[in-house]
Amino acid sequence: MVVVFANQKGGVGKTTTAVNLGAYLAEMGKRVLLVDFDPQANLSSSVGARGKLPTIYEVLRGDAEISRAIHATPVDRLEVIPSTIHLTGANVELVDVEGREFLLKKALSEVKASYDYVFIDSPPSLGVLTVNGLVAAETVYIPLQCEYFALEGLSLLLSTVDRVRQRFNPSLTIGGIIFTMFDSRTRLAHEVVENVVGHFGRKVFRTIIPRNVRLSEAPSHGLPINLYDPGSIGAKSYKKLAEEVLSRG
Ligand code: ADP
Ligand code: MG
Repeated sequence: MVVVFANQKGGVGKTTTAVNLGAYLAEMGKRVLLVDFDPQANLSSSVGARGKLPTIYEVLRGDAEISRAIHATPVDRLEVIPSTIHLTGANVELVDVEGREFLLKKALSEVKASYDYVFIDSPPSLGVLTVNGLVAAETVYIPLQCEYFALEGLSLLLSTVDRVRQRFNPSLTIGGIIFTMFDSRTRLAHEVVENVVGHFGRKVFRTIIPRNVRLSEAPSHGLPINLYDPGSIGAKSYKKLAEEVLSRG
C-alpha cells in the first residue's frame, strides 16, 4: 500500500509519524519503504540517511536508477529513499515538464511491489511535490496537531485531494486523520479531538499520539523511537498506531 503523509502546515508530525509508524510496521514483519519527498530532508536525518547518494532527486532527473537510491536504515526491513535540498529546485525545474505530476508514481512503480508499505513524506506546501505524492499514493494520512488552528488548513488540503482525484488519481482515498502532540492537560486539545471526530467519524485513527520529548530527541540520533527509547510513551503510542493500521487492513 502506498501512503502519502500530507498537511501543508509544517510541524504537525508528518515526518515523525511516517518514520515511527514505518519502524513499528517493519518491526512487526512488514517490508516498508520510506520516501523522503521534502527538500528539508528531516525524514532522511531521522533514519541516519541524510547525505546518502543517490537521492530521490537524481531519480526524478533520470540520473539514477531508483533501486540504487534505496538505502538501509537502522531498522530491519525498513528502507529509505533520501531527499536533498536540491529537491527545492524541482518545483521550478518541473514546471514545464509534461506529465510532471506523475514523476514520483512512475519512479515508484518499479519497486513498490517489493514492499508491504511505501510511505511518502511530503513538504509543508501544496505544490508540485505534494501533488506528486498524492498522485503516487493509494491513500492519504493526515497528521493533525491538537490545537485551535488545526482545522484551518484542512479544507484546503481536502479540496486539493479532490482536485487530484478528478484530474490524476480517481481512486485516491483519505486513509485517516492522525492526532499528534496531544496534551491531555488542556481542555482545548480534548475539544479539538471531539470536534474532528464529530466531523470525520471513523476516518480518525483512535490512537492519539501524545506530546513526548523522546519523540523529538530521537531524530538527532538518527534512530526511530523503537530503537531510541522503546519504553517511552511516544514509542508505545506509535506501536499502538501500527497495530491499528494493521487491523484496519
Ligand atoms: P512535520 O513533518 O509535519 O513538519 P515533524 O514530524 O517534523 O512535523 O514534527 C515537528 C517537530 O515536532 C519536530 O521537531 C518533531 O521532533 C517534534 N514532534 C513531533 N511529534 C512530536 C510529539 N508527539 N511529541 C513531541 N515532539 C514531537
Ligand atoms: Mg516534515
